[in-house]
Amino acid sequence: MRICMIGTGYVGLVSGACFADFGHDVTCVDKMPEKIEGLLAGKMPIWEPGLEALVKHNAEHGRLKFTTDLAEGIRDADAVFIAVGTPARRGDGHADLSFVYAAAKEIAGALTRKAVVVTKSTVPVGTGDEITRILLENGAPEGTSVASNPEFLREGAAIRDFKIPDRIVVGAEDEFAREVLREVYRPLFLNKAPILFTGRRTAELIKYAANAFLATKISFINEIADLCEAVGADVQEVSRGIGLDNRIGPKFLHAGPGYGGSCFPKDTLALLQTAEKEGVGMRIVNSVVEVNDARKAAMADRVREAIGGELTGKKVGVLGLTFKPNTDDMRDAPSLALIKRLQEGGAEVIAFDPVGREQAEPMLPGVTFAEDAYKVAAGADALVLVTEWDEFRALDLRRLAGTMRSKHLIDLRNVYDRADVERAGLSYRGIGRGERQ
Ligand code: NAD
Repeated sequence: MRICMIGTGYVGLVSGACFADFGHDVTCVDKMPEKIEGLLAGKMPIWEPGLEALVKHNAEHGRLKFTTDLAEGIRDADAVFIAVGTPARRGDGHADLSFVYAAAKEIAGALTRKAVVVTKSTVPVGTGDEITRILLENGAPEGTSVASNPEFLREGAAIRDFKIPDRIVVGAEDEFAREVLREVYRPLFLNKAPILFTGRRTAELIKYAANAFLATKISFINEIADLCEAVGADVQEVSRGIGLDNRIGPKFLHAGPGYGGSCFPKDTLALLQTAEKEGVGMRIVNSVVEVNDARKAAMADRVREAIGGELTGKKVGVLGLTFKPNTDDMRDAPSLALIKRLQEGGAEVIAFDPVGREQAEPMLPGVTFAEDAYKVAAGADALVLVTEWDEFRALDLRRLAGTMRSKHLIDLRNVYDRADVERAGLSYRGIGRGERQ
C-alpha cells in the first residue's frame, strides 16, 4: 500500500514509521520545514523511545520518505492519513479543527486519483462529514472516501502500542474505505489485533468516550485519595484492592497530581462541547474536568503546608516536568500549574527533567534548570517529585537530605516509602497515604 501521512508529530511520525516497518510505502508530510529537514538528516522532532532507530531503519530501506510538499507526498497514495493537531480552542474548549480542514482542502487539490482520506487526529463527531464536503467542493477525484481511524497510542510506549494495539477502530461508510484500511492493517491482524468496523460517527465518538472514561478513573481515584488522607487509609492499597476486581481493572488507578498531557484535558472539554451542542447532559465528564482542574491547582498548597505554611523566600526543587515519564511532551503538564502557583506564592523554583528541558524552558519563565536531582536539592527547602521518571525511583535520599536547607519530600507520585524517607532525615508527604496508618 502507498500511504501518505500528513503531520509528523507524536501520532503521525510514529504511525508513519510503523506502517513503513510493516512494509508499506510511506511518505510523511509536514508543513514545518525545520521538522522535515531534521528528519531527512536523521534528527527526531520529538523524543519517543525507539523512534529514531525505527525511522532510520525504514528510511534506509526506502520505505519511509519525508517532504514538505503535500502534492508530492500524496502522489499515487491509496490512503492519506490526517494526523495534524486538534488543540482546544481558546475560550470555549471546542476542538480547533482549522489544521484538519486546511489539510483536507490541500488534499482535495492534490489527489490525482481516488483514495481513502483517513482522520487519525482526534476529531469531534461529524468532522468526517465536513471533510467529505470540503473534498467534494475542492475537486477531489470521484470515489474518494473519508474514514475515521482514531489513534490510541500512549506517548512513551507509542511504538509498542501502535504495533500491538488492544484494538483498531475503523469508521467507514463504504466498502472501498473498509477494503483499503483492512489492507493497511493486515499485518496487525495477523498478530490477532481485533479490528472493529463501525460507522464513521461512531468511530469518532469511540475515541472521546475512551479518553473521557480513562480521565474519569483518574479523577475518581484522586478523590478517593483525598478521602484516604482524611480517614487514615492508604490509596495505593485501595487501588490494588479494587483493581484486582476484573470488572474494574488495575490501570489508571494511580492517585497523583491530576491528569495532563496533550489528550485528556482537551478531549474531555471537546466532548463536553459536543454534548452541549446536542443538548445532552454529561454531568459525569463535567465533574471529572472540575475535579481535575481543582486538583492541579491544589498541589502547590500541599507543598506550602508541608514546609510550614509559607512559600515566600523558600526554594522549592521540582523533579520531573513532562506530563508523564518517557516523553518530552509538556502540553498541559501538571508541573506547569504547580510551578506557576509556587511562584505566585513567592517561592523560587529550581527544576530538573531528564528530557523535557527544551520544551519546558520557554513555558516556565523564572525557573532555574539544574543538571540532575542532586543539584536541584542543594539548598532547597522542599523537593517535589512530579513526574515518576525511572531515574527518580532510587535516589540516594540521605545524599539529597544532606544538601537541603530544610528537609521535606513531597511525593506526588507515591514513588517512595514514608519509613525510608524519614529514616534518611526528610519529612514525607505522599498522595492519599493517611497519617493514621
Ligand atoms: P503534534 O502537534 O505533535 O503534531 C501535529 C503535526 O502536524 C505538526 O508537526 C504540524 O506541523 C503538522 N501539521 C499541521 N497542519 C499541517 C498541514 N496542513 N500539513 C502538514 N502538516 C501539518 O500532534 P500529535 O500529538 O501528534 O496529535 C495529532 C492528533 O492525534 C491530535 O488530534 C491528537 O489529539 C491525536 N492523538 C494524539 C495522541 C498523543 O499521544 N499525542 C494520541 C492519540 C491521538
